Amino acid sequence: MSQSIEAEQAVASTPQAAARGQEPFSGEENPFEAMMARFDRAAELLALDPGLYRVLRQPEKQIIVSVPIQRDSGEIEVFTGYRVLHNTSRGPAKGGIRFDPKVTLDEVKALAAWMTWKCAVVNIPFGGAKGAVVCDPATLSITEIERITRRYTAALIDVLGPDSDIPAPDLNTGERIMAWIMDTYSMHKRHAVTGVVTGKPIEMGGSLGRREATGRGCVISIKQAAQHLGFELKGARAAVQGFGNVGSVAAKLLAQEGAKVVAISDISGAYYNAEGIDVEDALRWVKDHRYLAGYPRAEAIGGEELLTLDVDILLPAAVANVITRKNARQIKAKVICEGANGPTTPAADRILEENGVFVIPDILANAGGVTVSYFEWVQDRAAYFWDEETVNQRLETMLCRAFRDVLSVSQRYGVNLRTAAYMLAIERVAAVHRLRGLYA
Ligand code: NAD
Repeated sequence: MSQSIEAEQAVASTPQAAARGQEPFSGEENPFEAMMARFDRAAELLALDPGLYRVLRQPEKQIIVSVPIQRDSGEIEVFTGYRVLHNTSRGPAKGGIRFDPKVTLDEVKALAAWMTWKCAVVNIPFGGAKGAVVCDPATLSITEIERITRRYTAALIDVLGPDSDIPAPDLNTGERIMAWIMDTYSMHKRHAVTGVVTGKPIEMGGSLGRREATGRGCVISIKQAAQHLGFELKGARAAVQGFGNVGSVAAKLLAQEGAKVVAISDISGAYYNAEGIDVEDALRWVKDHRYLAGYPRAEAIGGEELLTLDVDILLPAAVANVITRKNARQIKAKVICEGANGPTTPAADRILEENGVFVIPDILANAGGVTVSYFEWVQDRAAYFWDEETVNQRLETMLCRAFRDVLSVSQRYGVNLRTAAYMLAIERVAAVHRLRGLYA
């Protein structure tokens, strides 16, 4: 990839922030409240020991750092950086770093906890973390972004490490930024440490299959759901919200499985074709025009309308809080596969459950990404790299097992898949706490 394209990606606008209109989260949409509501319900059903409940509700470590950099103008500016380690009982902390002007410590805390549960659901030996720098990449040059990245890494040098805390890309950070983190960390350690971050370029220890892993994981879960519910993926109708990394890969793989992708959307608009959209053709359109806007071989529809189409599978793969109490009753899909993090609010959960919609929750549905990040870390540590087929096969094995585990908890306790996924995750983390005991 050329330097200029990477630079463009590193300063790309923030669709999530744009989509939520830069408004602070509130009420139904507060991510910390949404996560805690699910955690509390699962903990109650598990009759979790009150002491352990108190331990798991709190992050282990919350770090706030100042990130001073020299702007290209020569002026010194100080940004704020966060890193939250929620729980490291099962292994090193793992979680992305986002650059976002509106990010708050509360949001980072929720996202860190989310990672603990996600890693436990797929049973990889990581705890949960999340990091952020409060900055707007759209107003920064590529060299300023590099300085922020390196200074933030240096400020956290004692926290990060392949055995302690392993960042990954998130909102507005990509493989270019991961390469700078690896380099800064390695310069401090005086030798190359590839396993300190995942989501790196392939040339420097990244994993084959990482880019497609989240979308691929969504389709693996959808196949499992179809098998469980007794319908064929071949000929099933699907609508996909978001046509970025997750949505476009999932749409392509769904089409390869014989499903009819009747609707797709991105921040620029939504498109419908009852006969099925040629996903490869839409991808070529986006490659040439950046957005779906103006896509000629489908009819333009409203973004909201996409969510309530008469389809078998709905795959929200864009932003949080799109399925709410306002539209949940109109949803006709049999299966919702949450490619995005937190697309459904707790209030919508209840309505979907009443209506018998089978929701594959985010901490299971989109865990393919962190699973292949785990594979990347394993390959870096072994300094032995797998071919793409091996990566994909192992991903499928792990996600199918996670799906079966969650389904079995759901059947045993008579709860939906989301509650079951939280119960499974909390129990796995709690079990390790009980075995390790409380160090005093
Ligand atoms: P991306 O930036 O590559 O793509 C996001 C897509 O959503 C873009 O096509 C954008 O135009 C579209 N979009 C934004 N707002 C929209 C809106 N209001 N309506 C319709 N489309 C809209 O991001 P991504 O990596 O594909 O991530 C998508 C979601 O999946 C996010 O919630 C992310 O947190 C989650 N996720 C991603 C990964 C991963 O490995 N990439 C892993 C786990 C979870």
